[in-house]
Amino acid sequence: MYKSHTCGELRREHVGQIVQLAGWVHRRRDHGGVAFLDLRDRFGLVQVVADPSTPAEARQTLEATRMEWVIQVEGLVRPRLPGAENPNLPTGEIEVLAQKVKVLNPARTPPFLINKEEETDEHMRLRYRYLDLRRERMRRNLELRHKVVKFIRDYLSERGFIEVETPILFKTTPEGARDYLVPSRVHPGQFYALPQSPQQLKQLLMVAGVERYFQIARCFRDEDQRGDRQPEFTQLDLEMSFVEREDVMRLAEDLFTRLVAEVTPHKRLLASPWPRLTYQEAMARFGKDNPDLRYGLELKDLTDLAMGSGFKVFESVLAEGGHVRGINAKGCADYSRKQLDELTEYVKKFGAKGLAYHALPKEGGEARSSFARFLTPERVSAIEQRLEAEAGDLLLIVADRPAVVFESLARLRVLLAERLKLADPNVLAFCWVVDFPFVTWNEEEKRWDPSHHLFTAPMPEDIPLLDVDPGRARGQQYDLVLNNYEVGGGSIRIHDRQLQEKVFSLIGLQPEVARERFGHMLEAFEYGTPPHGGIAPGIDRICMILADEPNIREVIAFPKNQVARDVMADAPSPVEEQQLKELHIKIVDD
Ligand code: ASP
Repeated sequence: MYKSHTCGELRREHVGQIVQLAGWVHRRRDHGGVAFLDLRDRFGLVQVVADPSTPAEARQTLEATRMEWVIQVEGLVRPRLPGAENPNLPTGEIEVLAQKVKVLNPARTPPFLINKEEETDEHMRLRYRYLDLRRERMRRNLELRHKVVKFIRDYLSERGFIEVETPILFKTTPEGARDYLVPSRVHPGQFYALPQSPQQLKQLLMVAGVERYFQIARCFRDEDQRGDRQPEFTQLDLEMSFVEREDVMRLAEDLFTRLVAEVTPHKRLLASPWPRLTYQEAMARFGKDNPDLRYGLELKDLTDLAMGSGFKVFESVLAEGGHVRGINAKGCADYSRKQLDELTEYVKKFGAKGLAYHALPKEGGEARSSFARFLTPERVSAIEQRLEAEAGDLLLIVADRPAVVFESLARLRVLLAERLKLADPNVLAFCWVVDFPFVTWNEEEKRWDPSHHLFTAPMPEDIPLLDVDPGRARGQQYDLVLNNYEVGGGSIRIHDRQLQEKVFSLIGLQPEVARERFGHMLEAFEYGTPPHGGIAPGIDRICMILADEPNIREVIAFPKNQVARDVMADAPSPVEEQQLKELHIKIVDD
């Protein structure tokens, strides 16, 4: 062993002991013949000193060290001089007087400082990720992630779940993205697909009688790299037999409630039990199905008040089946022309043609409004009332196609909440969204798409609608939402071959194609399949929120960058001609 103690564990009670330590040179300074060095390992920092009593060889070695060198030190633990203690450091009452110092490995000057939390270009951080991970912030995040995963494993194991690994080389398991394909050398011209989730395999484990399964599972989805997605990410994949929607939701709710109390006790749940919203309600109140419930600023429907108003902008939208909805930006009446223009530009990004405003001055009096002069005073005051406007408020209204209205106002709501600092980072607003439409119409391809995935069961009472009005049927799906993010989704599954085939045909999968892709599932359903359901919370996203990080790359040890590239190892990368030949692959430039 290179060390008798870690750098974080020495305290006053160790005074008088000779200890061996090993780690990295975190910081060095010399004060008139006395050299100080902070030695760091994953467990903490400790001050090492070389003074005139230190043997010359040890002192010289210590003085020659530079930042991030790896060294071993043997020395005597002694109390720091009165006044020199550091109350911010757990080892701050002592120091180690060096007697022997050995360099285990010198280091080049790192491309950024490890010992300081300073803004560093993300490309550099990812390029030298092994150095970035030495920094305090990343160390904390890795440890938090470990705690989250360990808590989950313990919790589920105690409740009869077993963790089962499922293959990475498999066949398409679609979740709505493109597959990553792996060519087979042994079977020319054939490919494995990396699972977008273990969905089919966990269902087959239910057919196999496992009853309670989970896995900390890697999922692979070849999506355009919008926002902070990763080509591979981690889910807590979970499935249970003989359960209804309530059972799965209750388990997940209890799991995360306890997890938060254990891992991030400084965070507070907004409500317990977690609120439940139907999809319709979530859209109507927040404009999106993954709302942030930490603040109000709710959308209000003004369509009925706009109807028959005679105001052309509203009327023409309504004539085409559009909506008029608005939000009340509390206390923002003094927004300048320029600020209002900025907000208008912002909603235009989401397709809105414009943003109507109505500002009620703080000191009372005439409103500053883009539309009041076109409406009767009664209508204007009805709009004010609907939006619960008071002096000093700014009403913002969008009239457009429903999808555009919802998205623009949902985005505006989040933007305003950021500006007004309405979202408390220490509050966790979990909620469930249920009663999603079973399928949604894909206008481009003129067919129905599953709202969740192919294996989700419709609500039993809505099954007859699949034949006559599929758009009105609801699925047995539930989404887990936390602070403006969907952090998981699940459903009760179809466990009956006929119903599964009906759903395949509803979404336009030809029977031969369905059999070729999912024949193993259909067949399994004929061998005694228990009713089952599950959920798959996203580990990266949840850790990101618990760690107060702005994106999931911060809680993944070796993430890809925003264009799906590993800039440290430089992947993807070209391969040898011979390898391609073995795989029966030719690269064709297009
Ligand atoms: N497999 C689904 C997903 O990855 C989750 C589930 O239905 O359990 O989104």
